[in-house]
Amino acid sequence: MTQLSDFSPWESKSVSPLTLITLDLDETVWPSESVLKKAEEVQFKWLQQRAPYLTAIHDLESLRTHRRLIREQYAEIAYDLTAVRATSLRLLLEEAGDSPDLAEEAIAVFLEARNWVTPYADVPPILEKLARTYRLASLTNGNADVQCTPLKAHFHFSLTPSIAGAAKPAPDMFRQALEQAGVEPHQAVHIGDHPECDVIAAQQVGMRAVWINRQETPWPADLPPPEATIKDFYELERWLLQEIDI
Ligand SMILES: [Mg+2]
Repeated sequence: MTQLSDFSPWESKSVSPLTLITLDLDETVWPSESVLKKAEEVQFKWLQQRAPYLTAIHDLESLRTHRRLIREQYAEIAYDLTAVRATSLRLLLEEAGDSPDLAEEAIAVFLEARNWVTPYADVPPILEKLARTYRLASLTNGNADVQCTPLKAHFHFSLTPSIAGAAKPAPDMFRQALEQAGVEPHQAVHIGDHPECDVIAAQQVGMRAVWINRQETPWPADLPPPEATIKDFYELERWLLQEIDI
């Protein structure tokens, strides 16, 4: 019978190398703040044309405040930011005296602009290389659609809270990615900028996890330190090469 001690760490790594890389999107592969702001502005301009009563009494800030309220009140959709946006807008349109049916089209306008992302410069060349060796999947809590962005060619599949039924840090999205790729947790590594939603959450389903810290933010003192920290995707490539060399 094989004893556990018969396996060296090197052998176990060669038996089950990393095959799946899952990646967070916002603040990991692209900055999101200015894109979100722009998408909200584009949507508001559209609303000014189509929903004059709503835009006479609301501005971007009051729409934001209402969304926060809806997210708190409607716990069953709080994980799905697009559903929260649609519900909030539908209610406000109706309340103002515009057609609530405009919400759907207004959300489509927002989502289109939400995909006008510019990846960090280090991301496209490295993803292109990694996609030749690994299965790449995006796991985002946001509402960008990778297939409509400049990175679409590099991802084999993409998961969102509305597909998985829960947002990170819940295990659902990670488990679904493992199942879809047909790999065991130890064959997968997740890369993300959020200590709890990305790093700790991935580790809790048995995956490995790398923290991307582009802004030199201190790691939260109350959390166990990450296995590896990188500041860009060049460092990710080096980390992965190191793993293969072991
Ligand atoms: Mg993020």
